[in-house]
Amino acid sequence: MRDETRCLTTRPLDVDGFRALQPPVTRAATVVFPDSASFEKRYDRFYDGYTYGLYGTPTTCVLEEQIAALNHGVRSVLTPSGQSAMVLALLTCLEPGDHLLIPHAVYGSTRAFCTGRLASLGITVEFYEPMIGGGIAALLRPSTRVVIVESPGSNTMEVQDLPTIAAAAHASGALVIADNTWAGPLLCKALDHGADIVMEALSKHAGGHGDVLMGALTVRDEGLHRRLKDMTRLLGLGVSADDAALVLRGLQTMAVRIDRAAASGLALARWLVEREEVAHVLHPALPDADGHELWKRDFTGCNGVFSFLLAAPFSGQEHRFIDALRLFSIGASWGGTQSLVSPQALGRDDLRLGQRDTRLVRLSVGLEALCDLQTDLEDGFAALAAIPATSSHQRRPAAE
Ligand SMILES: *Cc1c(COP(=O)(O)O)cnc(C)c1O
Repeated sequence: MRDETRCLTTRPLDVDGFRALQPPVTRAATVVFPDSASFEKRYDRFYDGYTYGLYGTPTTCVLEEQIAALNHGVRSVLTPSGQSAMVLALLTCLEPGDHLLIPHAVYGSTRAFCTGRLASLGITVEFYEPMIGGGIAALLRPSTRVVIVESPGSNTMEVQDLPTIAAAAHASGALVIADNTWAGPLLCKALDHGADIVMEALSKHAGGHGDVLMGALTVRDEGLHRRLKDMTRLLGLGVSADDAALVLRGLQTMAVRIDRAAASGLALARWLVEREEVAHVLHPALPDADGHELWKRDFTGCNGVFSFLLAAPFSGQEHRFIDALRLFSIGASWGGTQSLVSPQALGRDDLRLGQRDTRLVRLSVGLEALCDLQTDLEDGFAALAAIPATSSHQRRPAAE
């Protein structure tokens, strides 16, 4: 054999006699077959074996099993992002002519996909109040195929009555897709509370270090798993073994990271409640939070992600506050080791909180020392205090 051929020829990996603590990273586009007959029959093992790197490798399968088990599910599918997981679930479950219910506080890109794309595919998209509870029954139609639940809601943090909504949806023949990204499987087992498909952005707490993107769907029903898996093939969705290994690593420390971030986050939330510059703190563990009792009933804890609104005369000055922070980096995503802050639009008029374009400040509290984080936020308030404390009415230039 000539050297250039030798360079292309390695003996197949034999892992007998080798065991590491972590699963190996099994990169592959091509999966090879022992003979042409098994290649031709490769889709027989599409759901349970290896056919092509896009549809699963040993590393991604280890992660899928882990995610399914954590969620009390039977099967999971991994996708390249949380957003693609939600898109996959919706495209699998909906047909033209179907009716879809989504909560007002749904994640912004889910909203955009539903109103922008699903609507143009002939699916009727209807919003509902996140705190609707059993009132959802009045919105269910014979054509309602899917109810999305996201609890707590993005930014405004309402905790929904998932079991009640799921019971009504099931009675009317609709499936419930729960975006459980905030809680993840450690804080809420959404399948146990009635969801049919639990979606999670693993980019957040599971990845946990702001350096990997991934999503997952978990189900109990094998038939539903097959439909989701078929759709991953049509859409060409898959994840790399390298990314799966990063998420597997993240899972090992997820519980301690969430505990620490939750403790710091709650301490900061309680401190913010007392600040005169703050009008509302939106955190499910605070007694006045929308759905606080539901959170106590259905969740086992919280994490470090919550929002607050500045009080008059500082509302409208969120950027000043945020730009003065040094430990909280400004950026999207959350649930990582380092604290993040971002301005988020309320997105709709709310009697209690403000108008559609009212900005709230969303914090993702990380693992830094609590006292340092508090000092950073104090610097933010100091930047606000530098504004002359006139009311927004007085600040507005005369109309004439
Ligand atoms: C971040 C997030 C997503 C999307 O996850 P990506 O991995 O960033 O695509 C979906 N839902 C919620 C609630 C999120 O916070």
